[in-house]
Amino acid sequence: MAIATSGPLIRFNPATGNELGRVEVTPAEAVAGIVARAREAQRAWAKTSWRDRRRQLERWSHGLAREADSWAEAISREIGKPLGEAYGEVATSLDAVGWTIRHGGTALADERLRAGRQSILLIPDARVRYRPLGVIGMIGTWNYPLFLNAPAIAQALAAGNGVVWKPSDLAPLVGCKLQESLDHAGLPPGLVAMVQGGADVGNALVNARIDKGMFTGGLENGRRVLTALAANGVSALAELSGFDPAVVLPDAPRSATVRSLTWGAFVGCGQTCVAVKRIYVVGDAAPWLQQIAEATRALRIGDPASAAVDLGPLISSEARDRFDQFIRASVARGAKVVVGGQPRPGPGWFFDPTVLVAQSAEPESALAGVFGPVVLVRQVRDIDEAVTAANSSGFGLAASVWGRDLARARAVACRLEAGTVTINDVVAPIGHAAAPFGGTKSSGFGRIHGVHGIREFTQTQVEQTRRPGGLRPQVFPYSPRVVTLLRTYLRLFHRSS
Ligand code: NAD
Repeated sequence: MAIATSGPLIRFNPATGNELGRVEVTPAEAVAGIVARAREAQRAWAKTSWRDRRRQLERWSHGLAREADSWAEAISREIGKPLGEAYGEVATSLDAVGWTIRHGGTALADERLRAGRQSILLIPDARVRYRPLGVIGMIGTWNYPLFLNAPAIAQALAAGNGVVWKPSDLAPLVGCKLQESLDHAGLPPGLVAMVQGGADVGNALVNARIDKGMFTGGLENGRRVLTALAANGVSALAELSGFDPAVVLPDAPRSATVRSLTWGAFVGCGQTCVAVKRIYVVGDAAPWLQQIAEATRALRIGDPASAAVDLGPLISSEARDRFDQFIRASVARGAKVVVGGQPRPGPGWFFDPTVLVAQSAEPESALAGVFGPVVLVRQVRDIDEAVTAANSSGFGLAASVWGRDLARARAVACRLEAGTVTINDVVAPIGHAAAPFGGTKSSGFGRIHGVHGIREFTQTQVEQTRRPGGLRPQVFPYSPRVVTLLRTYLRLFHRSS
């Protein structure tokens, strides 16, 4: 929990409830000035060469790498995740930043598009440029406070933009640490600036004449932010909630699949946007349910700082209460609790990892958008029913298919409505530094990472050049030769059979 008062933002350790630290909230009325300063710095930054930008990003990245241990500890402490998960986040964040440093120049290089046969019509070749947008306003979430912020900041800067970003008010301390790392990298003053606070500060950023908004968070707030950006005529990249399905085919190897699915459901205490929330077993679900329940009962829950644990707490008392309500609503609609289903007494905001079973789609609808340690298992008759169930949700972030016959699994994966589909794997593949990540349907639009991600922070400009003078048919007065030329062209290239 973090409390925004008129004073500082106070952050508590989610595993103990003890105060971790406090940071100053940025006054909402100061945000427009911070964006204006970033724009000033960005004008000069946009004129720098790729080599200069790369050198500065490298310095930043080296600083992050030198501090890898303290990053992992800071993430584990503030988010309440096991140290191994926090180290995984640091590694994938550095990989993603490193991708931009190694490949950003190529991804942003001009492209030449030849006119081909259209040169007969004297249409010139085209050069495509990827130009900076200006100042990117980023509003972030807390569950992967480094991975979801640092790579996007790197891509926006690499593309020649300034960035004003707001970390989540539930991860303000990691936010400060990230901004400090940027400040120490020697980037131009004001080019990347952090603002701290809650919805009011986020709202001020959205309305501060930014050139593009990037929002990562829940669907409801995301829609509010997107509506405000649209009213200002500002484009957006939206990374919103998921409700990810896993389709288990009859030939899936049970033990290995159960191990992966249990991890995929409860990694980050289920507070992972691509965590598995719904498992559809094609055929007899009973043995699967039994093994998933056993694997869940074996999980070790506790304070990641004090013991070897698999699952930490939820991020705040409000998040735990909200999660509890989701579970109750699903049970009220017919879900049966197989394991867990209850909050744990404090200190800390723990909730027993929960396995639900359902006979129909009703209990699932009550869970849509849930963010916490729960997975629901449902038996389905055949693949068609599994695909229909998986696609019935309004969300479409990621989905997985499990089976030995890879051709069949791929055929199922192709039918799933999700930004990422994985076969016999889950969550971890999102760490692929070059693979574009993002959702479909209510899970958002736009992509982060790789070539697609970096170009989200650019505007595409086309330049076409013709030598001065020379032949040019497209001018007044019209001559019959133009008609002859076009008729010949049509006959040659578009005559229907
Ligand atoms: P949230 O929507 O509560 O908050 C996200 C951010 O928006 C925070 O920084 C918050 O201060 C800010 N905010 C809230 N209301 C605002 C407003 N009206 N105007 C401007 N800013 C506002 O979400 P959360 O609790 O931080 O994150 C959890 C959600 O994020 C989950 O639903 C999860 O699935 C989703 N998520 C998605 C991805 C993805 O990549 N698609 C990644 C991680 C988390």
